[in-house]
Amino acid sequence: MKLHNAFATELPWACEAVTPTPLHNARLLHLNRPLLEQLGLGAVDDAKWLACCGNATLLPGMTPVAQVYAGHQFGHFVPQLGDGRAILLGQQQTPDGELWDLHLKGAGKTPFSRFGDGRAVLRSSIREYLASEALHALNIPTTRALVLVGSDEEVLRETVEPGATVLRTAPCHLRFGHIEYFAWSGQSQRIPPLLDYLKRHHYPGIEDNQALFHEVVGRTARLIARWQAAGFVHGVLNTDNMSLLGLTIDYGPFGFIDRYVPDFVCNHTDSVGRYALDQQPAVGYWNLQKLAQALADHLSPDALRQSLDTYQHTLMLEYSELMRRKLGLESWEEDDPTLFRQLFLLLAQDGVDYHLFLRLLARLPLHGDLPPSLAALLPASEAWSNWLSTYRQRLSREGSNDARRAAEMEAINPKYVLRNALAQQVISAAEACDMAPFEQLFEVLRHPFDEQPQAEALATPAPFWYQCTSLSCSS
Ligand code: AMP
Ligand code: MG
Repeated sequence: MKLHNAFATELPWACEAVTPTPLHNARLLHLNRPLLEQLGLGAVDDAKWLACCGNATLLPGMTPVAQVYAGHQFGHFVPQLGDGRAILLGQQQTPDGELWDLHLKGAGKTPFSRFGDGRAVLRSSIREYLASEALHALNIPTTRALVLVGSDEEVLRETVEPGATVLRTAPCHLRFGHIEYFAWSGQSQRIPPLLDYLKRHHYPGIEDNQALFHEVVGRTARLIARWQAAGFVHGVLNTDNMSLLGLTIDYGPFGFIDRYVPDFVCNHTDSVGRYALDQQPAVGYWNLQKLAQALADHLSPDALRQSLDTYQHTLMLEYSELMRRKLGLESWEEDDPTLFRQLFLLLAQDGVDYHLFLRLLARLPLHGDLPPSLAALLPASEAWSNWLSTYRQRLSREGSNDARRAAEMEAINPKYVLRNALAQQVISAAEACDMAPFEQLFEVLRHPFDEQPQAEALATPAPFWYQCTSLSCSS
């Protein structure tokens, strides 16, 4: 174990020292052992993790701080936000020399808590813990989850709920909002050292700020393309929830779609659908523009513009490549955009389950009857039989092989998805002190592409009445 806090030492003006507040009757609910091992933290025993994440007894070398940042929330600039309920306890230097933040969410008030209580409830902590590991297994860049602690602490949301903490980790938790804070609080001179910190620790090989901004644009575009292909909606894409490393960060009322609903909104306080599934690509660009404005003292307008101009192309390229592979196509043909458009129209019009459809499509043979499971999923309409026959002809033209295509498609179309209904079942059990369903789902989601016969029930779509539910922001 090699704990310290380079952020606090190198950028003391970007954070405030804080101490976590213990939870009442804290108990250890889960440890992500493979990740602890990977970070070189496998030797710390369970009791120490409980003491650290529930009882404010820190590990040697930790120097807890809360970071200050700002952000555009639902389009409006808020000059000061910051870690209101998350504490950067310290950083671990991994066996291969990387720096990883240990960030404890729900650990009590900080100087940036404003009107909040600094707490997180068990419900949202479980959702963040499962979702971050699920996205990681789907090859989507994200913060990760290390430790989950529950308690008898009473936390008031719409009702009283049990408090919890998640120890999350990522190489760094810097956000677009960090740059915005220093740009708009008259401290623009702080931005170069902040960017130097990023380059020094997290962007090896990137030497100047122009190349750094260019890389952030590219990573953001590729991240959002991956969300779109996976049917994932973040829900609160404010600039303070946009990572400068291009990670999925700050899980709130996020959701995976069930049926294909292109304008699905998962956050029920988002009444105009600003952060709907089909708005995410445009919102990513809007957020990058806000970042560019905040960098305007340090980069030329031309440099900023040139990088911003690559966003759309990078996103479309990544998205179309992912969708090509999800449909089992080996290369592009001129008419493919029409094939895709028609598919999306049919999926939306008939409310077909997005994930199940793609997974079952993998086993569609070039010739012969539809597999019964696929036939049962789709309406027996002329439109569908036309689409399927065009698709089969398209596959035949490139000499597609049934067995090889099935294997390739099943390696990119997950069988197991963290649907809201599944998360809710696990949460209800955990609130009744039964963690077995959580543990099963956690393990299953680590291998989302594998057939896991013992977990077949977790692969079925949610009941119709539950599909695509939106959730409240309070967590
Ligand atoms: P979010 O959009 O959930 O990532 O949070 C927006 C801002 O509100 C961040 O600065 C959070 O730290 C802060 N915040 C959210 N919930 C709480 C809470 N319960 N107590 C204190 N601060 C909070
Ligand atoms: Mg946030």
